[in-house]
Amino acid sequence: MAAKKGVRSRVVIPANKASAEARKLFEADRAQRIGDQSAILSADDMAGLYDPKRGLFTTLGGEFRPVTVDDLIAFRAAVHDIQRRHGQRKGNVPVTAAPGGILAKQVVNLSAPDDRARASREIHTIIPISNQGGVVHITTNASAKSDVSRHHVYVQFLDYDKVLADGNTTLEAARRMLAGKLKFDCDCGRHTFWYRYIASIGSFNYGRPEDGFPRVRNPTLKGIACKHVIRVMATITAGATFNLFAKRMIENGRRTLSNKRTAVTVKEQQAFVEQMEQARKQAKRGTVIKTSEELKTQRQAQPSYQRQQEARKASAADRAAVRAANDKLRHSQAAKVNRKASSVQHQALTAAMKAQGFSEKQIAAALSAVNKVKG
Ligand SMILES: [Zn+2]
Repeated sequence: MAAKKGVRSRVVIPANKASAEARKLFEADRAQRIGDQSAILSADDMAGLYDPKRGLFTTLGGEFRPVTVDDLIAFRAAVHDIQRRHGQRKGNVPVTAAPGGILAKQVVNLSAPDDRARASREIHTIIPISNQGGVVHITTNASAKSDVSRHHVYVQFLDYDKVLADGNTTLEAARRMLAGKLKFDCDCGRHTFWYRYIASIGSFNYGRPEDGFPRVRNPTLKGIACKHVIRVMATITAGATFNLFAKRMIENGRRTLSNKRTAVTVKEQQAFVEQMEQARKQAKRGTVIKTSEELKTQRQAQPSYQRQQEARKASAADRAAVRAANDKLRHSQAAKVNRKASSVQHQALTAAMKAQGFSEKQIAAALSAVNKVKG
C-alpha cells in the first residue's frame, strides 16, 4: 500500500504496542507447538527412534501417505544438503563450532521464486521499530487477504558488537554490519511451518528453534524465507533508507554503550515509510525483488554496461602503453629519469595526470612510485 504524505501508514504503531503484540504471538506459537508434540517428527525420531505405529503422514512424492523408513533416509539427506550449504556439515561430518548466520543477499538468492514474487507484489512496507543490542524488530504490512494487519520480523545482526567497537565512521560501520551475517524470525505461518526448521538446521534462526521436520508442508526442504523476510532482506541490501537507520543504531550504541532497547517513535516510523516510498518511486530498475544472478543479467543487457566494458578495455590499453614508454625511457635515459623528483616535477606530473582524467588514487600511486626511484 502506498504511503501518502501526512497520512499515517496502517503498519505504524507505537513500538511498545508492537513489542507486546509480537511477544504474545510468538508465545502463543510456542505453546501451540509444544501442544502438537505428538504430531511432530522430531530430531529424536529422525535419529532413528521413530515408531511407525505412530502413523505420521508425509506428502513426499506428491501423495499423502504414511512415513516409511525410506522417507526418513530421504529427509535426513535433505537436512544434510541444507547443512552443507550453510557450512554446518562437511561431507558427512557435522562441523563443530561452525559459525552461524546468513547474508541478507543470500536469503534473497536462495528464496523460492514464488515467495520472491509474493514479496514483490504484496509486501511494500517495512518499518524498523526497535533495536536491542543488534536485534532489530521490524514490522511489515500483511497481504490484503491476510487476517492480521501486520507481521513481525526479527533480525539479529551478528556483527553489531564488532562494528560498534572498531574504528570506522558510523555510516561505514552500519554498512559493514548490514553486509555481514544475520539470523532471522517471522511470526507468519509460512515461516513457522515451512522455513523455521530450515533456519534452525542451517543455524540462521533467531527465536525459538524448530526440530520438527516439515514432513507435510515442505518435505524436500525447498526455499528459505517467507515474503515478509524476503522484503526485509531486499530492503537491507538496497541501501540508503535502511543504512540511515543502521547508522543511528551504531550512533546510539556508541553513545550509550548499553544493550537497552531503543524504540523508534511513531513519527520516525512514518518518516521511514515516506523515505522508502520516495526511494521506490525513484528506483530506476523497478521494484521487483531480484537475485544477484538476475541483477547481473539485467546489468549486462544494458547499453551502458557495454560502453563501460569498452572504456575499461581502452584505458587498460592506455595504461599498458604508458608503462611501456616509461620503461623504455628508464633504460635509454637512465641518468635523467631515475632522479628523485623535485616538488616542481611532482606538481607537473600531478597536473598532467589530472588533465588526462586519472583519479586521485592513481596520481598518488604514481607519485609514490616516482619517489621510490633512487636518484
Ligand atoms: Zn513471514
